[in-house]
Amino acid sequence: MSGTVITADPTTIGLSTDLWIDGRRRPAMDGGEFSVHDPATEVVIATVADATAEDALDALTAAAAVQDSWAATAPRERSEILRSAFEIVSERSEDFARLISSEMGKTLAEARGEVAYGAEYLRWFAEEAVRIDGRFTRSPSGAGQIMVTKVPVGPVLAITPWNFPLAMGTRKIGPALAAGCTIIVKPAEDTPLTMLLLAEVFDAAGLPPGVLSVLPTTSSALVAETLMGDPRLRKVTFTGSTAVGKVLVRSSADQLLRTSMELGGNAPFLVLDDADIAEAVDGAMAAKMRNGGQACTAANRFYVTESVASEFTDALAARIAALRVGPGTDPLTDVGPLINRRQAERVARLVEDAVTDGARLRVGGAIGMGEGHFFAPTLLDQVPADARILREEIFGPVAAVVTVADEDEAVVAANATDYGLAGYLYTRDVDRAAHVCARMATGMVGINRGIISDVAAPFGGVRQSGFGREGGAEGIEEYLDAKYIAI
Ligand code: NAD
Repeated sequence: MSGTVITADPTTIGLSTDLWIDGRRRPAMDGGEFSVHDPATEVVIATVADATAEDALDALTAAAAVQDSWAATAPRERSEILRSAFEIVSERSEDFARLISSEMGKTLAEARGEVAYGAEYLRWFAEEAVRIDGRFTRSPSGAGQIMVTKVPVGPVLAITPWNFPLAMGTRKIGPALAAGCTIIVKPAEDTPLTMLLLAEVFDAAGLPPGVLSVLPTTSSALVAETLMGDPRLRKVTFTGSTAVGKVLVRSSADQLLRTSMELGGNAPFLVLDDADIAEAVDGAMAAKMRNGGQACTAANRFYVTESVASEFTDALAARIAALRVGPGTDPLTDVGPLINRRQAERVARLVEDAVTDGARLRVGGAIGMGEGHFFAPTLLDQVPADARILREEIFGPVAAVVTVADEDEAVVAANATDYGLAGYLYTRDVDRAAHVCARMATGMVGINRGIISDVAAPFGGVRQSGFGREGGAEGIEEYLDAKYIAI
């Protein structure tokens, strides 16, 4: 039953699993519900209300009704609500971490990391809310004066993925609320619980009813189409696959919605001949194995210069072989399960195809361990240049290593993809780093670092990784329109 307490071991936090609309919980209009599973066991951990198109329109009616008053709320007040939400999430960090680990599968340590990171977006945008500014200048003709102010775009639909159930939400909710927008969040079907808990946090933080709604649903396409077809909605912000991003961009045309698209990646990881190999291996482990490889910034393709290839690959293989796979809630686990059976099978096929094409399986390569969707951390080397695994986003704990002759070949191979989200580069030479970095066709580059996400930095991609930026000073601009006043 929805509306009851989730008692999934170890998550006993008294969370309601109804929809969150207009500042209150309620079941779906047609009484529909769906199950949420623990990916480590396939056990049902909760039954959640399944929003219909009518529920979505209710949420939009509530959002539209309070849009003007929320936009008119003093920035300091909006800021303080966000700040208070940051503090409550931080206080309830353990509840969030256990919930994330249960519904998504990541290790508790990583879930705690996500809570800290996700909460930071609320703090960051609490600080940005009071710094929205415009400009004032004189027309070149001397005939008039130009005032530019920033106004909220209006009600927003946010569609989020399952891999970071909290952070992918706060990265959108934080700037939307700071800018003065109302927002409806449609979380991923696999992981709806974390956003429902966040709705309770915002309620406790004093957010007025209607400003934020959370709509778990199994009818994502219908809910999105319904909302995007309604002229009251003014923006859609999406994190997810490139395929779905394209569908949403097309649908956004009818009402000419503002759009932000954080889509897939196929990150290259370059190890040049002068790299510190021990550091490169540490960085590779972080860039590849964090979240079981289920990150859009995950290193997919390792291009390693010939002279250091065996040293790097041997050390990486040894580290990967030592990883312990298990339920995320077990403190001894390094790598949890993949999100669902479909993903585990997809990763298995990518590995099989690569081996058929001539890649060498050095470590791992198998699905296993009972009902859960586990996939053994894997390293492939001698991967042929045309292997599918180098073209597609892996989204699993699989490192594909390619040996290249030199820096130039590494850069050309790195850019030979339709995606352009993150890239990584290891070298001890600062000039070389700057030169290679300038040639990399990605929205973000990590130099001698395996983790690059930072609330103060603009996160986002180019090419088929999408457009728009989240975080930094840029993040709030996605939710603001410039308004020119001629004086
Ligand atoms: P997905 O595109 O299948 O789903 C993402 C969200 O879209 C979910 O909420 C899903 O329910 C919803 N959705 C699916 N079909 C829809 C439709 N037709 N209309 C409206 N909504 C729809 O992606 P996923 O498998 O959940 O997530 C993995 C993908 O997300 C990967 O490609 C990954 O790279 C990407 N991702 C990108 C970033 C980034 O910031 N660039 C961050 C995390 C994940």
